[in-house]
Amino acid sequence: MDNIVEVTGGPGGSAFLVMGREKTALLDCGMAYCAPKLFENLSKVLKNRMLDYLFISHSHYDHIGAIPYIKTKWPNAKLLGAEHARKILTRPTALATIRTLGREAANCYGADDIDDYEDKLLQVDECIGDGDTFELGGVSIDVVRTTGHTQCSLSFLINKNTLFASESTGCMSRSGKIYPAFITSSAEALQSIAICQQLQPAVIISPHYGFVSHIEVPAYWDNCRAAIKETRDFIIAEADCGYEEEQILLAYEQRFRDEQSRVEQPLAAFQLNTRFMIKTVLKESGRQKIDEAG
Ligand SMILES: [Zn+2]
Repeated sequence: MDNIVEVTGGPGGSAFLVMGREKTALLDCGMAYCAPKLFENLSKVLKNRMLDYLFISHSHYDHIGAIPYIKTKWPNAKLLGAEHARKILTRPTALATIRTLGREAANCYGADDIDDYEDKLLQVDECIGDGDTFELGGVSIDVVRTTGHTQCSLSFLINKNTLFASESTGCMSRSGKIYPAFITSSAEALQSIAICQQLQPAVIISPHYGFVSHIEVPAYWDNCRAAIKETRDFIIAEADCGYEEEQILLAYEQRFRDEQSRVEQPLAAFQLNTRFMIKTVLKESGRQKIDEAG
């Protein structure tokens, strides 16, 4: 595991460097405000080596916001993402959202004002998908399609035994609890968990968390599955009591917004994620209101 180093540049901005004999790869890079500390961490580990690849697990600002700064420093690093991520990162509205959320996060975390950048630095250089393998020299990275959080979500299996899991499977909290994060589909998220479990990784890197301890690995995927089912059942039960989306959101917050969640996730992000999950569950279970469905 010495060839996988956490280089995270700030809270919420997980980034991992994978070092092969010939090539190096960064898995996600965190938000724009993370760039200065990320550079520092990367430079310490890379020393004089080049950064060859930038793998992105999906196109959300908190996973890719620092890319333009990395591209400025290491222009030859190739940005690798799913075809759907490539499409999203050409849309002016998506690029504007990434910039705005990146600024807001910088303010939120008390970072200095971030430098502006050119949107073209966020363009995916090469599309990757399920089954693709990259050899770094003594270290391999397999690409695993794991949708459910977004349609572009990918997980990365390093050396067939360490899985950098996508957010579709959920995120571990310091409390040990798993928070679900299925934005586009709970069914696909469950399928993604099954795919990850089948790979039987001995080591798991949980999104926004890092290395899962050995003690927690055996139950990890079952816990991910249970978290999704608990959320889904809760939303369905609320909807069946006749509650509307906003009421379900409040009830969900009361039930699931625990102390650790308050520390780890701003309320706005928690609510946004929950809103998406409510809409998704109502749609998937055929409970969305007729006027919205129409
Ligand atoms: Zn995300």
